[in-house]
Amino acid sequence: MFEKVLIANRGEVALRIHRACREMGIKTVAVHSEADANAMHVRLADEAVCIGPARSADSYLNKSAIISAALITGADAIHPGFGFLSENADFAEMVESHGITFIGPTAGQMRLMGDKITARKAAEEAGLPVTPGSPALESVEHAKEWANKIGYPIIIKAKDGGGGKGMKIAFNDDEIGEAFTMAKAEAKASFPSDVVYMEKYLQKPRHIEMQVLADKYGNVVHLGERDCSIQRNNQKVIEETPSPALNQQQREEIGNIVRNAIAKIGYTNAGTLEFLFEDGRFYFMEMNTRLQVEHPITEAVTGIDIVREQIRIASGAQLGYTQDDITFSGHAIECRINAEDPETFAPCPGKITEWHAPGGLGVRVDSEIYSGYTIPPFYDSMIAKLIVSGKTRNAALMRLRRALEEFVIDGVKTTIPLQQEIISQAEFIDGQYNIHWLENFMAKKAAEKAAEKK
Ligand code: ADP
Repeated sequence: MFEKVLIANRGEVALRIHRACREMGIKTVAVHSEADANAMHVRLADEAVCIGPARSADSYLNKSAIISAALITGADAIHPGFGFLSENADFAEMVESHGITFIGPTAGQMRLMGDKITARKAAEEAGLPVTPGSPALESVEHAKEWANKIGYPIIIKAKDGGGGKGMKIAFNDDEIGEAFTMAKAEAKASFPSDVVYMEKYLQKPRHIEMQVLADKYGNVVHLGERDCSIQRNNQKVIEETPSPALNQQQREEIGNIVRNAIAKIGYTNAGTLEFLFEDGRFYFMEMNTRLQVEHPITEAVTGIDIVREQIRIASGAQLGYTQDDITFSGHAIECRINAEDPETFAPCPGKITEWHAPGGLGVRVDSEIYSGYTIPPFYDSMIAKLIVSGKTRNAALMRLRRALEEFVIDGVKTTIPLQQEIISQAEFIDGQYNIHWLENFMAKKAAEKAAEKK
């Protein structure tokens, strides 16, 4: 087992990784930008190294500074968390070439599954149900040809896309030219490659993803699904497990398909396969080759510490259990709490004058915040994750309502009022929502407000 792990991240996930390490008797090294000297993960880690100025490009994305920090402190492994360098295959390769273990899949696996076109091909060959789609598109004419083959509406996506960028929808031949040109231009501006391809556009799907763990000896388990359909601008807002939309048979079927596919692909460590789910069918979208923000809801219903498993697998340990040993109990829901205006979503960094997190049975708060902490303006605005669990979905919902009521965060605006509104809507309570539900709800609210003003 490792003696010392360097955490190449910040915020709540840095703290999350620190906690797993301490419980395994592993020492931790925090790295931080000049803006994060007072961060909680820096305070708690055994050692801390400043790796550069506030700008992410100069610090948390600075590969050589991070690797130097690992070499200087004698860390034997690096955990990348999520975001930043977590899906950067070149970084994983650099880490390994310095004799340090990268806690995650191999660089080759990251390259294969990180490129949407090669990932779709690998997924299809491994038996996953894939959204009907095209190869790389050469021209508007080529796009038109494929759109007619697949059938409108279609969505054009960048092969290296991420964060919901570079995606354009077309409903007919008149719209395809612009969709192709704009998607390509956005891809060129944001990603390493401007190659785009097309998929059938599903109109009212849910986003359902499967968590997997795989060791280096071919043992693979899945830890069930997460329903992440409550989204805004393709960003997840609330996640829950199990999904209210799946029955036991569908759950077991997709679980088996996913497990076999991961074994065929030869993937190792933790990963998530993202699907759209419509009319009882799954459509593979992409794989995230890293830990995910919403992993705690899976931990809540399985009792498995996913970060601990990532570290064990990376160190060469065997899983030590099979699918039959995994049990699912109860229901868990996560709310992402952002320092943002709950109506305009404008980021709201600043000093936290008062902080009181909820507690009690079935309540977990993952956050780096403390009273008197100043949220720097340079990074993501998520400041806390509230995770609740209960024996049934209804028990979890009642607990979520109670926990949100207890939360005190003064000094900055947060999205808590929006979360409270969402979870009191009849459709949410009934589990009747798809990926467009939140957008439609926000639009309806805005229209009501405009009518009030008149
Ligand atoms: P990114 O890597 O940029 O996050 P994804 O491929 O994961 O892109 O897609 C992000 C979101 O875009 C999905 O969660 C879904 O809301 C929407 N989306 C993607 N592909 C499709 C599709 N074929 N049909 C309908 N919606 C889609």
